[in-house]
Amino acid sequence: MRGKNEILVVDDIRMNRVTFTDILKDKFDILEAENGEIALQKLAERKETIALIITDLMMPVMDGFEFLEEIRKVDSYRNIPVIVATTSDDMANECRCLELGAWDFIPKTFHPEIIRFRVLNAIDKSKVRVLEYDSLTGIYNQQKFYQITREFLDTADDANCAFVQFDIERFTMINSFYGSGEGNRLICYLADAIKETLDGASVRYTYGRIGGDVFGACLSYDTKESLMELVEAVKTKVKCHSVHYYLEVSSGIYLIEDKDMDVAVIHDKASMAADRCKGQYMMHNAFYTKEMDTWLLREQRIINEMDTALAEEQFVVYFQPKYELERLTPYGAEALVRWQRPDGTLVPPGEFIPIFEKNGFIIKSDFYVWEKVCQFIRRELDGGRCPAPISVNVSRVNLYNPKFLETLINLVEKYKIPPKHLNLELTESAFSDNTDMIQDAVDYLHRVGFTIMMDDFGSGYSSLNILKDINLDVLKIDMKFLSKSKMADSRGTKILEAVVRMAQSLKMPVIAEGVEEREQVDFLSSLGCDYIQGYYFAEPMSIDRYKKLIGSPD
Ligand code: C2E
Ligand code: CA
Ligand code: CA
Repeated sequence: MRGKNEILVVDDIRMNRVTFTDILKDKFDILEAENGEIALQKLAERKETIALIITDLMMPVMDGFEFLEEIRKVDSYRNIPVIVATTSDDMANECRCLELGAWDFIPKTFHPEIIRFRVLNAIDKSKVRVLEYDSLTGIYNQQKFYQITREFLDTADDANCAFVQFDIERFTMINSFYGSGEGNRLICYLADAIKETLDGASVRYTYGRIGGDVFGACLSYDTKESLMELVEAVKTKVKCHSVHYYLEVSSGIYLIEDKDMDVAVIHDKASMAADRCKGQYMMHNAFYTKEMDTWLLREQRIINEMDTALAEEQFVVYFQPKYELERLTPYGAEALVRWQRPDGTLVPPGEFIPIFEKNGFIIKSDFYVWEKVCQFIRRELDGGRCPAPISVNVSRVNLYNPKFLETLINLVEKYKIPPKHLNLELTESAFSDNTDMIQDAVDYLHRVGFTIMMDDFGSGYSSLNILKDINLDVLKIDMKFLSKSKMADSRGTKILEAVVRMAQSLKMPVIAEGVEEREQVDFLSSLGCDYIQGYYFAEPMSIDRYKKLIGSPD
């Protein structure tokens, strides 16, 4: 990139432009514009090389005030200093200019030395600004934020201090759905919300933008409760930004024990806590705990190894049979992924699935599972059998993957699998985000011929709304929501009974999963529940064992 060596002079009087040019031309290239409108065009074309703008106030077409207002709207202009040339010392006008973001003034008495000094000064300041301030929000960038936080902690004496990391959940999706303009507005809004909230409280604080949608704040606090009130206040404020879409801010909080600790390390701890919230439905705040250091190591190991694991087929697909309750015979299965490391250790899905969902790898690992299932079904069909449907889990991340439908359909076409053999399990929490989009996807999948199950029905808070809004085929109810101790509790059983009745009246089959005991089977059977999946009948097993179970030859 060429250096910034241009000055844009905006003035309707040609003589004035010539005078500025004469004074500054030995050091800069001068661009001229006779009003704000032309200046905006030039600015758009040459924003990379314009080091400073000098503008007049009174001009036809677009005056200086309007010009300043327009500049302020564009984030990438924020670090270009603007000096206003004034004829008289009109206090009111100067105030208005400063409010609109003017950096300085020069009198139109055209004193060459003064003009040169002011111009060079403003440019120097803007260079420092670029190094310290984030150009989008105008607040401190990470480096400067760390620096002032260090100073803050050094002078905090006995005060309790906490580091809070804020970020917007599923920000990349908001960005891709509503455009980067909206994404940027949201980021600025979060910056303002942090400042307004902390200004309004009697705490000392520093804050800055760490990058993307991530912000940090370091503040003093009295009690943990008062700290949480502030954190919640920031979130509530941000939620008001949009009534059009679901917006959630998550936060990771580290209560600083040792103020001499490196700020980057302090931030890491808050960031680890924030990570705990990711992909955890309905969990939006987390405090750092010591165990997180070990989680982090474990997570890092999973991330390091996942590509190799996929390439080397360390992921193994297990089938857990489902049983028809009336006849107590197996009818299909759910495919569940397992990770078998070369050393023989087994990583439970609860450990790696949330990490894959966070980093998007789930799209690959889910596809891998679907393909293995398609291969199984293909072999069964080739053997002249008609296999009962196998269901696969579709992570919520896939619903945001624009290629999801296409990928799935290409896959069943590749193996020539009639879609009735492959069922899709979508977890309930996936539905709460964007009902319209999900309804469209579900409609499409129905047209193709897939059966869609709502997994973990009852685990979220809007189960009934989802049932009302989205046309699903099968309900899966996890019995862990009705623990054994609660079986005796009549409220829980009554709710289960009502859910099964409701599903029946909606003509939706019900699968009860996590069934471990005889009493549960009897009770579900008395309710007229259709299918059962659980350790009581069978644990997840290798595909070979499943084939034996259903009497399919090798
Ligand atoms: P899920 O989809 O609700 O799967 C049911 C889980 O309950 C499985 O755990 C299964 O092994 C377990 N389970 C089955 N019967 C019983 C029982 O009687 N008692 C108890 N306590 N548990 C039972 P698993 O295999 O550990 O999977 C955990 C979760 O990981 C799954 O919950 C699912 O959300 C996710 N998952 C597993 N495989 C995949 C996959 O291929 N793709 C995606 N996206 N998620 C997967
Ligand atoms: Ca499932
Ligand atoms: Ca489930």
